[in-house]
Amino acid sequence: MYADLHLHSCYSDGTFTPEEIVRRARRQGLGAIALTDHDTVEGCALAAEKCAEAGLEFVVGAELTAEHADRELHLLAYFIDPANQELREEIHQFQAVRQERIAKMVALLNALGVPLRAGDVFALAECRSPGRPHVARALVRCGFCQTLDEAFERYLKKGRPAWVPKAKRDAPSIIQLVHRSGGLVVLAHPGLSKADELIPELARAGLDGIECFHPKHSAPLVQRYLGMAQQQQLLITGGSDCHGLGKRRPLIGTVRLERDYFEQLKARAERQKQARKSAPAA
Ligand code: AMP
Ligand code: FE
Ligand code: FE
Ligand code: ZN
Repeated sequence: MYADLHLHSCYSDGTFTPEEIVRRARRQGLGAIALTDHDTVEGCALAAEKCAEAGLEFVVGAELTAEHADRELHLLAYFIDPANQELREEIHQFQAVRQERIAKMVALLNALGVPLRAGDVFALAECRSPGRPHVARALVRCGFCQTLDEAFERYLKKGRPAWVPKAKRDAPSIIQLVHRSGGLVVLAHPGLSKADELIPELARAGLDGIECFHPKHSAPLVQRYLGMAQQQQLLITGGSDCHGLGKRRPLIGTVRLERDYFEQLKARAERQKQARKSAPAA
């Protein structure tokens, strides 16, 4: 049994519906998946239902943007309770800022002489958690760029003229929030964040695991993070970070987390749940 614990759907910047993800997961022979859309758990109910039908295990997840020591970090929250009020409010806040950010990016594009409308982006995104990939797709669809790469390179990458920073919360406060809502926190693709020296500090702040297996991690990098996980007593996870259809074939199934790692993650979530039950005020 293999798991893919990092997947995006059309509820954020992926192109597949949750149904399509489950269909493909099954075809890839996966035994368990987590949906980890940016700043939303909206697709999780449907994904859970389809997984149950297909005989796959499902984990509710989300990818949240955090900041620590001036670095942007992506934190994967797993086993969170979508009904948790505090989490819902926080997610709602993140989404409101994402929507305002789209309007700001469009205003910057307009000032550069690109007559894109915010409505074009929202119509294409059709979700509460829009991001730069939606702006890029709208730029291509409206004929202002030839490719998504061009859109990022010319306008949307950090430092380019239509880039607008994202809302971030500091990492320890996200870790605490996720723990209060019943979940575990895993540092996503540390190889992309380039913040290795922060890992011990994050571990002390309650980080539960690191995503050692990721398509952007070379074999030596995987070894490096497996070593760090062991040293810091962190759980080990992995996922494809599939965003659906892009330039290459969809990534789902290209990272296959071994069952043992997945079972350890589940056991930790269960232990935390039991501990909270016996000490609800903590
Ligand atoms: P956002 O959360 O709005 O800042 O957008 C970040 C997302 O944009 C990432 O999760 C990727 O899916 C995508 N992305 C980031 N950089 C690029 C790039 N250079 N080309 C294509 N997609 C990118
Ligand atoms: Fe993304
Ligand atoms: Fe990420
Ligand atoms: Zn991701």
